[in-house]
Amino acid sequence: MSSKQGGTRAAAAAGDSTPRATVAELRRVHPDAHCELDHGSPFQLLIATVLSAQTTDVLVNRVTPRLFERWPDASSLATASPEEAAAQLQSLGLGMYNQKGKNLVGLARLLVERHGGEVPRTLAELVALPGVGRKTANVVLGVAFGAPEGVVVDTHVQRLSQRLGWTRHTEPPEIERDLCALFPRGDWDLLSHTLIFHGRRVCFARKPACAACGVSDRCPSAFHADSVGRKAPRARSTAAPGPTTNAAARKATTTVAKAAGRVAPAARSKR
Ligand code: SF4
Repeated sequence: MSSKQGGTRAAAAAGDSTPRATVAELRRVHPDAHCELDHGSPFQLLIATVLSAQTTDVLVNRVTPRLFERWPDASSLATASPEEAAAQLQSLGLGMYNQKGKNLVGLARLLVERHGGEVPRTLAELVALPGVGRKTANVVLGVAFGAPEGVVVDTHVQRLSQRLGWTRHTEPPEIERDLCALFPRGDWDLLSHTLIFHGRRVCFARKPACAACGVSDRCPSAFHADSVGRKAPRARSTAAPGPTTNAAARKATTTVAKAAGRVAPAARSKR
C-alpha cells in the first residue's frame, strides 16, 4: 500500500464516509469544478449544451466562438435557415451537423415566438425546445440560473454514482432520482460538475486512477472499478441472440449490482 493510500484510509477511519462527505472531499480536490462549456449568456450556454450531445466540450468550445460571432442571440439565429446553420457547423468540424443545425434554428425561433428571445427558466419550458432534453435543461437551469430541477446525469455522473455505490441503477432517470434523494437541492448543480471533473481527470471509464484518487478510502469500487459503471459492450449485430449473449448481459448486470451492493448503510439512507 502506498503512503497516499495509507494516509487516506487513516483519514477515512477517523472521518465521515457518507456521500455528502465524499463530495466535500471531491470538492476539496477539484475546487475549480465548473461547467466547461464556454458561453457569455444563457442563450449561448443553451446552444453550446445542445451542440455537446455526442461530442466533447473541447470540440464545442472550438466551434462556438465563430458561431456566436455570426449569431450571438436568439433573434439573429432565428433568421437563419437550418441549412445555413448546418453548413456553418459542418465547416467548423462538428458532426451531426444537419440535425444540430435544424435544432438550433428551431429552438431560436421558438425562443423568439414564445419567450421574447430569452431562455425560459423552467424545465417544462426548456424541454419543449428542439434538441433540449432533461439533461440539457438542467445544465442551463443550474449554471445560468442557479436553479436546477434535477441532477445532470451524463456518462461521468452515471459511472461515478455506480462506482461510489450511490445507486444500484444503470439508467440516468433512476440514477438521478437516487442522487436527488441523497443530496440537498442546493448541492445538485455543483455535484454534477464535481463528479464530471473527477470523471475526466481521475476516475476514467477505462483504467481509473484509483491510486491517485482522493476518495479511494471510501469508494467501494476502489482498485477493482474497471468494469463498474461502464456501458456493456454492444452485442455484435451478426450474432444471433442466444445463451452466450444472455450470459454476457447477466454477467455485466451482476458486476454492477455487486459493486452497488457494497453501499454503506449511511450511503443508502434517503434525506
Ligand atoms: S477510487 Fe477509483 S473507482 Fe473509486 S472514485 Fe476513485 S478513481 Fe473512481
